[in-house]
Amino acid sequence: MDFFKKIFSTSSKVSKYCDLHIHTTYSDGLLSPGDVVSLAHKHGLDAIAIVDHDAIGGIEPAIEAAKKLNIEVIPAVELSCIVGETDVHVIGYYIDYRNKKLVQILKEIQKKRIERAKLMVERLKKQGAKVELERVLELAGEGTVGRPHIAQALLEEGYISSYDEAFWRYIGYHCPAYVPKEKLKPQDAIKLIKDFGGIPVLAHPMSYNGHHQIILYLIETGIQGLEVWRCEHTEEDIKYLTELTQKHGLLKTGGTDCHGGRKGKILIGELKLPYEIVKELKDAR
Ligand code: AMP
Ligand code: ZN
Ligand code: FE
Ligand code: FE
Repeated sequence: MDFFKKIFSTSSKVSKYCDLHIHTTYSDGLLSPGDVVSLAHKHGLDAIAIVDHDAIGGIEPAIEAAKKLNIEVIPAVELSCIVGETDVHVIGYYIDYRNKKLVQILKEIQKKRIERAKLMVERLKKQGAKVELERVLELAGEGTVGRPHIAQALLEEGYISSYDEAFWRYIGYHCPAYVPKEKLKPQDAIKLIKDFGGIPVLAHPMSYNGHHQIILYLIETGIQGLEVWRCEHTEEDIKYLTELTQKHGLLKTGGTDCHGGRKGKILIGELKLPYEIVKELKDAR
């Protein structure tokens, strides 16, 4: 993190800042779009990307809230796809979030997620952990329902004593109540994003097992950028990813991937990137 401070905060040329990866209550974030915008303002961000899992409902309320504070909201979505056994996330920046066809496609994905949550709840019951689907859906609210909401319900009912325990005991990969999501192939996710005017960028590239092969495969499949700047990246990670973007002519993006404290800390403000990145994204459209 000190590394970022060194390269960005002390640079006198940077006068505007952005964070291009923030979740809201429309997926598994704990902050509403309005809260995200307020916090972004408090931390002196000039542009933020609203990035929810398979959901775009948070974009419009964020834009509305941002008007008064003069913050630019970049519409985006984070799609899950599967490469071998790995869940790979692709962000689509500047996706046409008002397109009715896109809204319909995402609605179908949401419906499948509800069916999956139902299956997981049934499996949990067989394991003796009786959580109700209604409660899980209530916790998801307007958002995309997922394992984080099931974990929260398990915690409420006292079947586990920490959020993490839900994943190693019940709903993590290879656990008894785990049900895989129906996932897109990367080429389909990339095509979907491009078809609706978006720029596909590989999210958290260092997080995948065998990341080098996965990154190269995604580049070959048509990704246009990599998330180079993330809180957890080391100086070496940044160097490695930057070299890949140079070699393959890709955009560099980044952000906090803030989930509003669901995974610990509220991250907005921890990483303030130069606004230049937004300009480059716009030019790529
Ligand atoms: P889903 O999309 O429903 O499969 O849920 C995936 C989300 O669950 C991820 O984005 C994480 O927020 C969370 N998650 C997955 N695995 C773990 C884990 N081992 N510990 C904590 N959270 C996890
Ligand atoms: Zn998430
Ligand atoms: Fe992700
Ligand atoms: Fe994310």
